[in-house]
Amino acid sequence: MPPKRKQKAKTEKQSEKDKNFLSMKEKVLEIKRNVLKAVELMLEENVSKNWFLENCSKLCKQDYADVIQERSIEHVCGYPLCDNPIVTVSCFYIVCSICLVVT
Ligand SMILES: [Zn+2]
Repeated sequence: MPPKRKQKAKTEKQSEKDKNFLSMKEKVLEIKRNVLKAVELMLEENVSKNWFLENCSKLCKQDYADVIQERSIEHVCGYPLCDNPIVTVSCFYIVCSICLVVT
């Protein structure tokens, strides 16, 4: 009998681990969905400054690079708060001349 009890306890423990793992996985997926939604909305015109500031923290460097790249494909300034068109697209200049800051 003792081995069965031990096995049952182990199974319950494993089941609890599985639940925690699935819960964590759901949280990660929810965060990824929120990031994707933020990226998609940054591709739209008329992004509000407040919304942009609230949602910028959700993005990592690569997410923001994707926003800039996608906007440049649409020939719009890469800075989400600026809807000016970009005339020349090169690998260095994917924001409009107004947003381009040379340091
Ligand atoms: Zn611009």
